Amino acid sequence: MPKTAPSLAIVAINTATNGRRSLSLKSFFSPRKPKKDAFTSQFEPVLEQANLFHPLSKSPIPAVRQKAEWISKHGSCAVCKDQEHEHGHKHGEHKPEQKKRKAPTYECPDCGYPTHCSEEHYQMDKDRHKHICGILREINEDEHDLRSGRRMKEFEFPGAQHRDEAINLSNWDTFLYTRGFLSMNSERSMRHVSHVLTYPITIGSVLHQSSPYRLGKDLTVEGLKSLAALRHTLHPAVIPGITQSQDLRTIATHTVRIFCLGARAESHLPPHIYMQLAYLFPTTAFQIHFVGPDAIPPHTKSKDPHQHVHYEQITFIYDNSRYETYHAEAGPFNPYYDVFFLFSPGLAHPATKDMWKPTIPLLLDTKCAIFGTGFDEQDVMNDVNEIENAGYEMDWLMKPRENVFRSLKHEVNLTDVRQSAQCNWGIWGIRGRRYDVRPAEE
Ligand SMILES: [Zn+2]
Ligand SMILES: [Zn+2]
Repeated sequence: MPKTAPSLAIVAINTATNGRRSLSLKSFFSPRKPKKDAFTSQFEPVLEQANLFHPLSKSPIPAVRQKAEWISKHGSCAVCKDQEHEHGHKHGEHKPEQKKRKAPTYECPDCGYPTHCSEEHYQMDKDRHKHICGILREINEDEHDLRSGRRMKEFEFPGAQHRDEAINLSNWDTFLYTRGFLSMNSERSMRHVSHVLTYPITIGSVLHQSSPYRLGKDLTVEGLKSLAALRHTLHPAVIPGITQSQDLRTIATHTVRIFCLGARAESHLPPHIYMQLAYLFPTTAFQIHFVGPDAIPPHTKSKDPHQHVHYEQITFIYDNSRYETYHAEAGPFNPYYDVFFLFSPGLAHPATKDMWKPTIPLLLDTKCAIFGTGFDEQDVMNDVNEIENAGYEMDWLMKPRENVFRSLKHEVNLTDVRQSAQCNWGIWGIRGRRYDVRPAEE
């Protein structure tokens, strides 16, 4: 399906630059949704593979030049920023320095990003900058590649798995190989593809019986119990007389419901991306509920706060209500069929913390498994500490750890390009404490 390739490149661009949280992270990753430009929608390559590096301000791609402008306006020179801090500390003040820091207009010749206010400050800081320079160079070239207009074969995804072929979820390489993804012959392709697949495959890798997460190492006993309940539904014994071509929604004994709360980028992915999750569970019908003010279906002009999309064995529900309202309507919940995913929720973040407070007790009350991710170690630990300090009656299902299916693409904080993050870098799991396990109702 080569037709889907260019639009997926746009998705990859948008998810790469769209922040996670409405306030803080929107500015963390990007000033605004980049506009579609002519370069993304044609097959005729406008940039050759040997010509992907450009200083941001001199890029042939308008959106990249806009990014340079944005950094020059809102970013900071590392040396100026540090001097400001030192000055503030010396005088015991918390107020920002009177003297305004200078905008970063000097572009590093190696990564093309405007990193410092002058060549002088760049030279002073070169030793520290080299730690991030390689990542920035990679982002620069990836971004030009996504908009190069080449046919992006890596986004031509495989269809259903043959029944006899086992899927290996040990890591991205084995997953992509055993699922028959073609044209995954460069790290760049892996970065592009992992960035859109991190959401469905993070979910799939936790739930699947071939999960890379094991008892003792990553999962607690409670974690294994919760996943065993879900796998009971997800991997039913073969039902006689059922073939793969039949409509699974009519034959599946139960539908597994995945609730993505505070959904943002994950809800903007085209439905066929989530089919890569469904292919891991060929006999299961899914409902994926994206709940939150930014849960918006892709390619829609409708402002309806509640929308349904049916796509093969998945029903997508997009709802903009507050979770407390939604919870009442979506219940009752059952740990055998229902699971919650919170992608980079920012449970401890000042901008989103209060919003989550009434939600977490409701989720714990369902006794269903709850998994969360964070964009770096600090982000994960902030959320984990917030949960631990709240004194909830709960059990850990999965100790916080690096997510095997994190995005391999780095994203950079445009207000301070020294900071980078990876979508779904880490993962953890919890559940409200329960004292007995009831068998599934048949
Ligand atoms: Zn400076
Ligand atoms: Zn550099």
